[in-house]
Amino acid sequence: MELHSLTLHELRDLIIKREITAKDAAFAYTRRIGQVEPDVNAFLTLTPGKTIEMAEKADKILNGVQPGAGLPALLGIPIAVKDNMCTKGIKTTCASRMLENFVPPYESTVTAKLQAAGYILLGKTNMDEFAMGSSTENSAFGATKNPWDLSRIPGGSSGGSAAAVAADMCAAALGSDTGGSIRQPASCCGVVGLKPTYGRVSRYGLVAFASSLDQIGPVTKDVEDCAIMMNVIGGHDALDSTSADVALPDFTANLKDGIKGLKIGMPKEYFVEGGIDKDVYASMMEAVNVLKSLGAEIKETALPHSGYAIATYYILATSEASSNLARYDGVKYGYRAKEFDDLLDMYKRTRSEGFGPEVKRRIMLGTYALSSGYYEAYYKKAQQVRTLIKRDFDEAFRDVDIIITPTSPTPAFKLGEKTADPLQMYLSDIFTISVNLAGIPGLSLPCGMTSDNLPVGMQILGRHWGEETVLRAAYAYEQATDWHTRKPGM
Ligand code: GLN
Repeated sequence: MELHSLTLHELRDLIIKREITAKDAAFAYTRRIGQVEPDVNAFLTLTPGKTIEMAEKADKILNGVQPGAGLPALLGIPIAVKDNMCTKGIKTTCASRMLENFVPPYESTVTAKLQAAGYILLGKTNMDEFAMGSSTENSAFGATKNPWDLSRIPGGSSGGSAAAVAADMCAAALGSDTGGSIRQPASCCGVVGLKPTYGRVSRYGLVAFASSLDQIGPVTKDVEDCAIMMNVIGGHDALDSTSADVALPDFTANLKDGIKGLKIGMPKEYFVEGGIDKDVYASMMEAVNVLKSLGAEIKETALPHSGYAIATYYILATSEASSNLARYDGVKYGYRAKEFDDLLDMYKRTRSEGFGPEVKRRIMLGTYALSSGYYEAYYKKAQQVRTLIKRDFDEAFRDVDIIITPTSPTPAFKLGEKTADPLQMYLSDIFTISVNLAGIPGLSLPCGMTSDNLPVGMQILGRHWGEETVLRAAYAYEQATDWHTRKPGM
């Protein structure tokens, strides 16, 4: 088997045993990127110089310790990072003209943690502009293609990260998830993606979209890799005031303990035949049988306010975005219009020229929802409904340990299929959005293939801080099936 097709933990084992060097790992992936990236377009920036430098540094560390002694968790592991996480001295564009030439003077906490664990950066991945979208088509620098079918979208907004993992262009990647942006692309590309509990992973250095919903998480080839990545990126950070001071467990410790007796809820609102693609429905039903055969108990559960999730999310997320994106005014950093008459004109032209259509649409929606006279009717109302949605989950988790749903109602759709109709695009996240509103963890993992040979994803949800249970269930399911071992023929 070629090095690039190994999982993170398999690659790590070879490095620990000194069977390969960090440089071998780095070269295997840069070679692979050279082969498939022209077709997939998963990266906005490749960092070959940095890649070699980091690989050499990793090899020095490797040579400096006795075999058998402990090594940093990701020593010599090549990883890709979504382009909305600040990397010091390396462009961080958010796939926007507004930040096209922005080079951060500081490092995000997550990438600093990856560095401390010895990782090798391969590059920054493509995304929807400012993480707004479900297809990566809103990137100002061209869409990413789905490695399973190049005429289809990879999902979004972390489409570059998911496509890069699926096409074996990295051992793992980081994504961010505000309403589904890790899980939906993971589902579309047949890989594993986890949105952690809100507050579990520091947002310091993540370019803000909707601050009360945004979380960073791993995109990986399997569940064990996901647990390893969580061990590195999780934990309290004094630099992020919303980072929670909750102890970080070792996510690999109970991973293999099985799910005998685990109570699994299926929300009746999510399993309406006809409401989801028939192959997705069939895959889910098969997955239920697998979970039962592993000793889990399946129960029907209810999330009665699900129908309000999309509307609630699109009021709150756009409101927060309109406020967060006010900082892009052409004054301190980022794009500035070349020609203007006066200060006000400079602001206007900078923002008109720097932002793409979806970002502008959201700034307008959010500004409207927050404007005096409408604030009570929209923003405040949405906050109240958000509480009800969160309570739905609190109630459901009294009876069950985890909840399963499809990740997305459909498999990857065709490029261009939904760009003309933003509401259709918004519906791609119908099963993922409530999770961000409630702040709970959610993971997507491969659970089937459609008749068109497209991956299907199952979503597993847990209680606040319940990632261990989610990962354990996902691992048990994964061991009993082989969906995660399938690769696009590239
Ligand atoms: N697709 C959703 C949106 O466009 C979610 C995006 C995200 O999670 N960043 O807002």
